[in-house]
Amino acid sequence: MAAAEPSERDFDHLRRRMVEEQLRDRGIRDERVLEAMQTVPRHRFVSGWAASAAYEDEPLAIGLSQTISQPYMVARMTELLELDPDSRVLEIGTGSGYQAAVLGELAGEIWTIERHDELARKAAELLQELGYLRVHVVAGDGTLGLAEHAPYDAIVVTAAAPRIPQALLDQLADGGRLVIPVGDRSMQRLRVVTRRGESFDEKDVLGCRFVPLVGVAGYADE
Ligand code: SAH
Repeated sequence: MAAAEPSERDFDHLRRRMVEEQLRDRGIRDERVLEAMQTVPRHRFVSGWAASAAYEDEPLAIGLSQTISQPYMVARMTELLELDPDSRVLEIGTGSGYQAAVLGELAGEIWTIERHDELARKAAELLQELGYLRVHVVAGDGTLGLAEHAPYDAIVVTAAAPRIPQALLDQLADGGRLVIPVGDRSMQRLRVVTRRGESFDEKDVLGCRFVPLVGVAGYADE
């Protein structure tokens, strides 16, 4: 007999363990971020058999060679954005919509851009079904940012950039933060850039591995 599908209660339990062991014990301190990670049903953002692995300490495949980052990376990047309930946020790389949902728990208005139409459409449907009505999914090339809703208090890029796209710096509000993995296609460093007027203060945070950011100010399509 096949094993029974985990119930919502099982998932809730797995999620609680994820928050304690993978996030709190490893130094994620922001209680609002921990609460958001406890609330968003990560298993809903992956399909079929992959749902049972949703709360493990690893990235998850979402099709079209793309992945949702490991829970720790999502939490760490979110913490670095220093969101408050009024923040206007831009995400580049919607993917499944999971990171966008976490942002939706913490910020005021969120725009998220995805270059694959099919992923954008699926993510928009799911986010709506789950009630994330302040998260707006846009299909397009996020390396150009989204000028019509700028400036943003926080911008997060969830794909690896060869260099920091100028448009994203231009669209950052004064005092705003940009969190972005920068490096080659196989390895990157996560950086945080804070805007102070016309100067940009840059900090190196940790090593990471993301799928490539493909676009005009990113990598060429292979
Ligand atoms: N944040 C996502 C995971 C991102 S995976 C989640 O929580 O599920 C990286 C995503 O960035 C992929 O879906 C990829 O198609 C997308 N991407 C890559 N280059 C892009 C670009 N220039 N503009 C928008 N999306 C891009």
